[in-house]
Amino acid sequence: MILLKSVSKWFGSQAAVDEIGFEAKKGEIIGFLGPNGAGKTTTMRLILGLLRPTSGKILVFNEDPLHKRLNVLANIGYLPENNPLYGEMKVWEYLQFISDVKNLKNPTDITDLAVQLDIEEVLEKKIEELSRGFKQRVGLAAALLGDPDLLILDEPTSGLDPIEQDKIKDLIKKISKNKTVIFSTHILSEVEDIASRLIIIDRGSIVYDGKKPKGRGGVEKLFKKSVKK
Ligand code: ATP
Repeated sequence: MILLKSVSKWFGSQAAVDEIGFEAKKGEIIGFLGPNGAGKTTTMRLILGLLRPTSGKILVFNEDPLHKRLNVLANIGYLPENNPLYGEMKVWEYLQFISDVKNLKNPTDITDLAVQLDIEEVLEKKIEELSRGFKQRVGLAAALLGDPDLLILDEPTSGLDPIEQDKIKDLIKKISKNKTVIFSTHILSEVEDIASRLIIIDRGSIVYDGKKPKGRGGVEKLFKKSVKK
């Protein structure tokens, strides 16, 4: 589904991503970990075709995401790190707008999606009036419009209280059936709870790619061992 081979992205004289490679297969839920500035967002934006790699090869659904951007993007649900939303729109208006922009052949029923994400009570509210947790669920709903095969979620629980974090975590578990998911996070227990695989990136290089360690605290130990101080 996703293939990266020796991919680098330089910004000026700095390599944000340095010769990374991995493959993601259908049905995998990949927890993408790394310290601040390690290259997680850059990697995600490369996969989405929002950035051009300095070198290397990227295939998403067997297409170069830069050349077949609309084909690729139509089948990816993306929740960016800062979850940009139009505050003045009502929730249902926003979801309808994103659905129209995606130009979906089989539009998702917004009411059904709202029930799935537990946001039906705010459909008539303006986005700017919502709590951060609801905003994040609206962003997730937008990513799910069109039932994409691939979900790329950049720190989906960032800034949320522990209860909302758990809600989003449970939602990711629920919605990820039959999808490939790559999600980044700084909350290591999330990886323990929902990921089937773990990739750790540090200073632009992948330092671990494999199964998540078993048992509570295993991910934290592995993370601390893999990442340079
Ligand atoms: P965080 O956990 O803080 O979100 P990250 O792992 O997502 O970090 P990236 O945002 O991918 O890290 O950034 C990797 C490196 O590339 C950082 O040093 C960052 O400053 C740099 N970088 C990212 N985007 C740009 C840009 N557009 N121009 C210049 N440098 C950039």
